[in-house]
Amino acid sequence: MTLDRVLSELHLHLYGCIRPEALLRHLAGCEKVRWQEYEEAMAAAYGEVPPVREIVERYRQGDAAAAAEFAGLFVFGDADAGDFGRFQAKFRLLVVASALGDRHGPPEAIRAEVAGFAAGVRADHVRHGVGYAEHRIMLGRGLDSPGERAVLDTLLAAYDRDGAGPAGPAERLALSLHRADPWAAWDRVREIALGPHGAVLTGVDFCHVEEGHPPKDVAEFFAEVRAFNDAHPERALAILYHVGESFRDKSLESAVRWVQEAAELGAHRLGHAIALGVDPGAYGPHTRTESAAERLDQIGYDLRHREGLRAAGVRVDPAALEEERARLAALPGDAVVTVSYDRDRLAEVRHRQDYAMSRVRATGAVVEVCPTSNRRIGGIADPAHHPVHRFLAAGLPVVVSSDDPGIFGTTLAAELDWVCEQTGGGAELREHLIRAARRARSEVLTGRVRAD
Ligand SMILES: [Zn+2]
Repeated sequence: MTLDRVLSELHLHLYGCIRPEALLRHLAGCEKVRWQEYEEAMAAAYGEVPPVREIVERYRQGDAAAAAEFAGLFVFGDADAGDFGRFQAKFRLLVVASALGDRHGPPEAIRAEVAGFAAGVRADHVRHGVGYAEHRIMLGRGLDSPGERAVLDTLLAAYDRDGAGPAGPAERLALSLHRADPWAAWDRVREIALGPHGAVLTGVDFCHVEEGHPPKDVAEFFAEVRAFNDAHPERALAILYHVGESFRDKSLESAVRWVQEAAELGAHRLGHAIALGVDPGAYGPHTRTESAAERLDQIGYDLRHREGLRAAGVRVDPAALEEERARLAALPGDAVVTVSYDRDRLAEVRHRQDYAMSRVRATGAVVEVCPTSNRRIGGIADPAHHPVHRFLAAGLPVVVSSDDPGIFGTTLAAELDWVCEQTGGGAELREHLIRAARRARSEVLTGRVRAD
């Protein structure tokens, strides 16, 4: 067996794995598609509505050209890049014909849909040499409605195939919890982890909009998961945390700090972490804003980490920071501060990243790099600015994954190719990354199973 036959996909969102052909077949077979919802989202994000409705109808009539046209409109390509709103609008097509999108729909329909898509995704993994896949899925907050139970029962049974059926990829599930209230699902998560299919639930995930949800807010929850893991080592759950992927609401300093904080709070793997290693020069001189509260957190961080920051080349002036702290503390709660970046400050952010990377490395947290996703959602147009260069140079544990291979029209092999080409790492790096991913499986990081 060559290494390429045992590729491990560690960062996948289940519905993002659905290929255009599978979605088109599904849409064509649906009695009810909530077209208006999709078309309104597209009009808002793109200013126009693509003729998907007509294409699906032509496909129903047997038009051979329809599939390629559909794929062209569904795939979130390089021309769509740099806008999460556009991504969400295109992703809506996966939701508007989904029994799962309407979670109050009949559980039978939900079961059939989820089982069908999961089987298609598994076949896709086989086609592309993926031998191990961790799928994340986000449902409602509590995970306990009849529809949500139908989804989870179906997926857990589908993935729990040890010793059964033909060879296929090993599949695992991570439940994406709501950032605002992960506790709402915690009883259900524990029930599933300790239940008959608990072996395939190997992690919890935090995804979707990160702005407004600082890692410090989940400190207590992370501690609870860690305590659960200590009590149930055979059912321990990895903490997977998307962070530093989008940071429009804050300074670059704060964005870097968030990644470090997530790792130090106990996340096992960090999704994207663009802020940690992106070349700050990519943004050029510019101005950003953040809340005074965020700035206060940054001042606290600078004071706590002054020695390490200084050693990394960052200028820290405690007296000035204390003075600024006193001034900001007197402002109203919703006050906003403006931060301007000139060349010097951008260079200093680079030093901050070096320090934060050393701290992240010390925690053992693994960074999940998804190049196509970073290019199209993260808006990193120039490959030279991509954080993977700095991650590798800093010796951070890195794995490569594809995030949403269906809607991005990519494969894990293509993502690995991109990293090896752009970094000049070649075949040696490719082999290293494939092995690193085997070692960074959730069940390995939590100690449930050994790496080999
Ligand atoms: Zn993701």
